[in-house]
Amino acid sequence: MKKTTFVSVHGGHSGQFCLHATDTLEEIIQKYISKQFSWVGITEHVPAISEELLYPDQKAAGLTPEFLYNRFRNYMRECRRLQEKYSPVIKIFAAMEIETYSGYKQFIPSLIQTFQPDYIVGSVHFVDDQGFDYSREQYHKTAEAMGGLDNLYCKYFDQQFEMIETLKPAIVGHFDLIRIFDENYPSRLAKPAIMEKITRNLTLIKDLDLIMDYNFRSLLKGASEPYISRPILKIARDMGIAVVPGDDSHGLQSIGINMENGIALLQEMGFDTNWRQPKIYTY
Ligand SMILES: [Zn+2]
Ligand SMILES: [Zn+2]
Repeated sequence: MKKTTFVSVHGGHSGQFCLHATDTLEEIIQKYISKQFSWVGITEHVPAISEELLYPDQKAAGLTPEFLYNRFRNYMRECRRLQEKYSPVIKIFAAMEIETYSGYKQFIPSLIQTFQPDYIVGSVHFVDDQGFDYSREQYHKTAEAMGGLDNLYCKYFDQQFEMIETLKPAIVGHFDLIRIFDENYPSRLAKPAIMEKITRNLTLIKDLDLIMDYNFRSLLKGASEPYISRPILKIARDMGIAVVPGDDSHGLQSIGINMENGIALLQEMGFDTNWRQPKIYTY
């Protein structure tokens, strides 16, 4: 098998700047170096827009949007320092993972203007302002509020479409995250009403020439395949969309985990493994 390089378009969450991650950002970058990654996008979560839209663990820990905003400022500063410090040995992108909730169409561009990240990862962790990926319980509660799982999927892909159209993120994060706690996801993704939205979103990604994150975090949570799942991956391949690994690491333990297998699978499916790099914003 041809030797390909390790890269990550999405990862590097650190305990220093994210409550549900561990370790310092510098330790994390050193680990990427020791694992011989040729380039890595550090993509910390954006700060919360409001009290109501904090993650459950942030709420429980008493964190405020102001605190998170200041911490994010420190994140960007630290990430730029490390980017420079380690530039002889690894290419680092100082980036951020966004959210989609009420007000994000103003909030995210204002964050982009203020913090000037190298690029953004367009992720959807909220449907109609309700989180779904935090726990199985939260997932089913949100599904119920949407009128069932089919509706949850439909709304997710509609809101993803809107986000991609509005923000044109260099990277589309974990495309089918909505399947996270659904044991029957293969048959649900195949339902015509849902598959139609998937194909529509992929067509938009292709038209805008964006990169899709091939995300290994699902495997750590017991799934049998990364996000993007196989049938969707096939369509993306046939459309000629660039798909690039993202370890979505949240600490030293998850850096580069499952990377070999993931890369082998992309290779076997005929994807180009001369990984495309994200386009850097110009300000
Ligand atoms: Zn996270
Ligand atoms: Zn995410």
